[in-house]
Amino acid sequence: MNLTHPFRDADGDKLREECGIFGVIGTREAAAMTALGLHALQHRGQEAVGITSYDGAEFYSHRGVGHVAQVFSANHLFENLPGAMASGHVRYSTTGGSGLRNVQPLFADLASGGFSIAHNGNISNAMTLKRDLVRKGSIFQSTSDTEVIIHLVATSRYPTLIDRFVDALRLVEGAYSLICMTAEGMIACRDPLGIRPLVMGRIGDAVVFASETVALDVVGADFVRQIEPGEMVQVDHKGTISSHRPFGVHEARPCIFEHVYFSRPDSVMEGRSVYEVRKQIGVELAKESPANADLVIPVPDSGVPAAIGYAQQSGIPFELGIIRSHYVGRTFIQPSDGARNADVKRKHNANRAIVEGKRIVLIDDSIVRGTTSLKIVEMMRDAGAAEVHMRIASPPTEHSCFYGVDTPERDKLLAARMNIQGMADFIKADSLAFVSIDGLYRAVGEAARNNACPQYCDACFSGEYPTRLTDLAEREAPEQPSLPVDKVA
Ligand code: AMP
Repeated sequence: MNLTHPFRDADGDKLREECGIFGVIGTREAAAMTALGLHALQHRGQEAVGITSYDGAEFYSHRGVGHVAQVFSANHLFENLPGAMASGHVRYSTTGGSGLRNVQPLFADLASGGFSIAHNGNISNAMTLKRDLVRKGSIFQSTSDTEVIIHLVATSRYPTLIDRFVDALRLVEGAYSLICMTAEGMIACRDPLGIRPLVMGRIGDAVVFASETVALDVVGADFVRQIEPGEMVQVDHKGTISSHRPFGVHEARPCIFEHVYFSRPDSVMEGRSVYEVRKQIGVELAKESPANADLVIPVPDSGVPAAIGYAQQSGIPFELGIIRSHYVGRTFIQPSDGARNADVKRKHNANRAIVEGKRIVLIDDSIVRGTTSLKIVEMMRDAGAAEVHMRIASPPTEHSCFYGVDTPERDKLLAARMNIQGMADFIKADSLAFVSIDGLYRAVGEAARNNACPQYCDACFSGEYPTRLTDLAEREAPEQPSLPVDKVA
């Protein structure tokens, strides 16, 4: 199947956001705390960052392209973001589609008052909703799918803002963890399946929300609980917390790729240490796919915990045969293939003294396009490795994610293009194996994948998408007349 990406806008922008979000209400210097929290979530998005604050009268905002430490480098910036409530967002890079207009939190002055929204996830019917809204006269300022929610809130006929918000979200499909601010306070909510994470913490009298627990740790907040799938938590300026389940109770389908790669290993997701899960994936991998080798070597940093697990289970010594420079960003986020290739080399270097003459098991978390694995295997051979056996701590990534993890179109996914032997030949490894889907489920603490009702969203591996993909279906239905390009934002 030739998948065209459903979230591509008329100008080639992608309506997708992969992000980290943070919010705090009830503390002085809320904006500075938000910057600190976003800094701990920097791995979730490195393209741009924004913070919005509220001081009881006005909303203030500062947004910029770059890392948190670059955009919020000067203390005086926080003087321009006063108030006891603030929220922020780090945004992932997409190919094209950058620019300040897409940097969140997005803000609008609605008839019901100011409304700010920070979103992690991806709305799988955003283009369809947007087309209808544009037809009815909405004028979009950004190419972000998140803006659709603002327009739906604005055009809802319910009297109160919270009712309008619920009304809007009823129309939205896909994955969303949201932190919103109004003059009344903060609202945090997760989509009915809880695909993207969101947790709540406390520091003194203040309430904190964040994509991952690591952000709570870093600002000194205590973890309280995760926001439940489909739950909407409101906190007012007096600190009163109320919880609603406007979408009913569904079987949760949190993203399993958060455990594989996306989250920081020092976070706790769904009650499980991400580090421990990754180590356990390595244990499962060693049981399922042993290798005759002298050393277990991780592809740093993403392969390290699984490699520790693989080494412990197999009894093969663990060594750092690849050293990573910490002064380059993640390889994946570079827009062009040329930039990506150069980056792999700048980022990883062989530790020749360790690998020369050795049969090695290389462990990485995933193969997406195959760019990293190809380079790393070659690098190991150039450094004198006698044999290179690649072991991957996730099942083959055969399907695109439409819920907010940046994966390329399906025809660029190596595992969608070839079988495992073909992939081994492509990356020039002596052998290649992936952990099984049941092995992955065992690592997250389940007995096996419940095929009738999977406990996680694992669509990138299984192709079973837990929500409708309306935009995709529309794109693929040849009989559907598409909106003339010049009518899309
Ligand atoms: P590739 O070189 O395209 O095969 O990408 C694989 C590498 O990218 C792996 O080593 C992962 O650590 C990393 N990776 C996998 N998925 C993602 C993602 N969604 N965003 C950023 N990096 C990723």
